[in-house]
Order: sequence, then C-alpha cells, then structure tokens
Amino acid sequence: MNSLKTIKAVEVIHVGDELLLGLRVNTHLEYLARKFTQYGAVLMRDQVVRDVGEEIQEALRHAWNNCDMVVVTGGLGPTVDDLTREAVAEFLKRKLVYNTDVERQMRERFAKYGYTFTENNLQQCYHPEGSSVLPNPNGTAPGIWIEVEEKIVVLLPGPPRELIPMVEDQVIARLLADGRLKPQEGYVQIRSCGVGESMLASKIDEVLGPDTQVSAAYCVHSGVVDVRFSAPVGMLDQAREAAEWVAAALGEDFVGYGEMNHAERILERLQIDGHSLAVAESCTGGQIAAALTEVPGASTVFKGGIIAYSNAAKTALLGVAEDTIAEHHEVSAEVACEMAKGVSQTMGTTWSISSTGFAGPGGGHGEDGVGTVYIAIHSPAGTHCKRFSISGERATVIQRATIFALDTLRRKLLR
Ligand code: ATP
Repeated sequence: MNSLKTIKAVEVIHVGDELLLGLRVNTHLEYLARKFTQYGAVLMRDQVVRDVGEEIQEALRHAWNNCDMVVVTGGLGPTVDDLTREAVAEFLKRKLVYNTDVERQMRERFAKYGYTFTENNLQQCYHPEGSSVLPNPNGTAPGIWIEVEEKIVVLLPGPPRELIPMVEDQVIARLLADGRLKPQEGYVQIRSCGVGESMLASKIDEVLGPDTQVSAAYCVHSGVVDVRFSAPVGMLDQAREAAEWVAAALGEDFVGYGEMNHAERILERLQIDGHSLAVAESCTGGQIAAALTEVPGASTVFKGGIIAYSNAAKTALLGVAEDTIAEHHEVSAEVACEMAKGVSQTMGTTWSISSTGFAGPGGGHGEDGVGTVYIAIHSPAGTHCKRFSISGERATVIQRATIFALDTLRRKLLR
C-alpha cells in the first residue's frame, strides 16, 4: 500500500521582475493550471513576486498551509538577481550544499556547445540540504525537489522551453509513479451560459458529494462557464454521469458538451429544422456575423449580414422607417425589430437577429444609459426584442452584447 499523500492542492509562485514589469506574459500559470487540473489537483493560488529574497519567502509563508505542493518558477539562474534557491533554503531553514555532479554536467554542457564557462555559473550547483536535483536537459539551471512535512516544494527554471519538459518528464512523471497524482482517464466538459460560476460550483459540489473521485474545474470566459469533470482511470463513467446530471439540471443554461459554442449550437439547430439566418448589426459591428462565420459549413444556414451603424444605413439598407427612429430613438426595441425584419426580407431568410445599443463611453437616451442594448429576433413565429443592460467599457459592452445576442437566439431555438 502506498502511504504517500495525494497531491490535491497546489500553490504556484512565479519569481521575476519581468513579469511584474509587463515585459513577459506569465504563460507558466496557464500551463501549470491545465497540467495539474488534468490530473485532478487544483491550483489554489498563483503569486507573482519580484526578484527579492524576502518577498519570495513571504510568498512561501502565504502558500505553505494551504497546499500539498508548492511550485516555484524562475530565479534559478547564475545572475545576482536569481535568488529563489537561497530564499527557499532560508525559508525551510536548510543549508545550501554544493553538488559536484551538477558542476561536472554544467562544464560538459558548456564544452559541448563551445560556451565560455564563467564562475557565476557555479551558483547553480547549490541546492538545499536534503533536496534532490532535477536535471535540465535544455538549460544550465537544474530544478530542485524538496520534501518537507509531507509537502513537496519544486523549483523550476523560468524559460518555458526548459520548464515544460521538466514538468512533463520529471515532476508529473514522478508524482504519478509515486501514486501522489492519479492518472486521469479523461474528462467530460460542459459549457453553460446564464448561471454564475459560484452558483454552479455550489450545485455541483452538492451533486458530487465529499467522497467523490470526480473533480470539477471551472473556467469562465466570454460570458460562459466551462466545467470540466475529471476522473481517475476506470472512472470516466462517473465523470460522464455527473456531467449529464448537471447538463440536465441546467436546462436552457446548458450550451453543449466540450468546446461547443453558441454559434455552433444555433447553426446546428437551424440546419436540422431546415431554416436560414441573417444578421443586422449596429452596436456589435459585425461580431455576431464573425462568430457565425467561424463555424465550418456555416454557409448552409447563414446567408449574410448588414452592418447598419448610422441611421441612414438603417433606413437605406434595412428599411427601418425614419419615423420609427424619430419617435423611439435608434436604440430602441422598435428599431431593433424593424432591423431584424428588414434583414430577413433582404436576405430571404426565415430567421434573423439584430443589435442596437449604446456601447459607450458617450451616448444614452432617457432611461437607456450606456450599456443598454436591444436584441431582436425575427422568426416564423414573429419578432421579439429583449433589452440588456451591460456594464463595462466599450469593448466589454460589445463583446457581451454579441454573446447575449447569440445566447438569446440559442434559447429561442430551443423552445
Ligand atoms: P535562467 O537560467 O534563464 O536565468 P531562471 O530560472 O533564472 O533561468 P528567470 O531568469 O527567472 O529564470 O527567467 C528566465 C526567462 O524565462 C525570462 O526572461 C522569461 O523570458 C522566461 N520566464 C520566466 N518566468 C516566466 C513565466 N512565468 N512565464 C513565461 N516566461 C517566463
């Protein structure tokens, strides 16, 4: 029987001024989060600190009681600002010991590539007493593996081309071999829209219960919440069952399995029913059409769109009556409905969708302030409009209006 503790919670600390100066995107976060999630462990927190010894120790203190494993990236190189090794040794109250094997391998590497060896490289030969060295086949700074109080602390070099193979071949491989991570057979992902992440998480926790082998991980992006149900080898059915249960409980808020997005769902439904679609966009400026055309084979259903930004364009291209605009304003339910009807007629489609709104920062009319967006849907059953009030800056309003438009159409098609 294996007595080693399962790694469930992981804390990550990135060391590097360049990350905090905005000179480098922190790609390690995304990579490590995906990697550990894939094996059922959860990234509890991610801290980014400067190349300052006390700040690295402070981050370690912060992480320590919250996890089974701490991964520290960067700051292992040969220069004076590479302080991770010293900071971790001091935090753990361990001496740094010199490793002659590391020196030999480093000298061999320099000789092989014809580099001049400088004395500062020897700094990389030290590691905290009782730790083991993780060879770095793509660089000079080795990684370090330390076990203390049932926790693992792993130090990895900053460059992604060095870190990634070390995580794959040495960190994950070792944790799997020790039984501290469980190989995951796979996962089932569901995509939802219209329900908040925290609400979803509390419902899912209830469904899964405390003793489950299935873990749920959440990803919120562009107005949708993805939930990934992972299970160890032989238990994928349990993950599938949980996903199906949640999908059914979500009802209309369930968009689809895997990466299925709104546009795919809409086009699939319209195609099955033998319908066609056109769009008339004002405030979304073509983004609804762009989302639809991204789907391969969209042309069988999606006929085209008109971006009618000015009032003159709304009138000339979509047949919106000047009186309607004058009476109700261009951002109104009445105009949205005429836009949808107009484009449907022009393009000869059975369905259409339109958008008109105030993306900001200026604009607004009466009770309709910045962020007010009207989305109208025209179908054989009639023309209906929905009003949204979206907060955020211009780009956010446009992006959300696009998602809301697609989501409104998706829901209408389900009914
Ligand atoms: P080196 O031996 O290259 O000095 P190191 O462990 O000291 O390795 P750093 O000096 O901290 O690593 O970082 C080296 C480079 O790795 C950075 O300039 C940056 O390009 C890249 N890097 C570091 N951290 C990250 C990160 N979180 N995401 C993406 N790239 C990173």
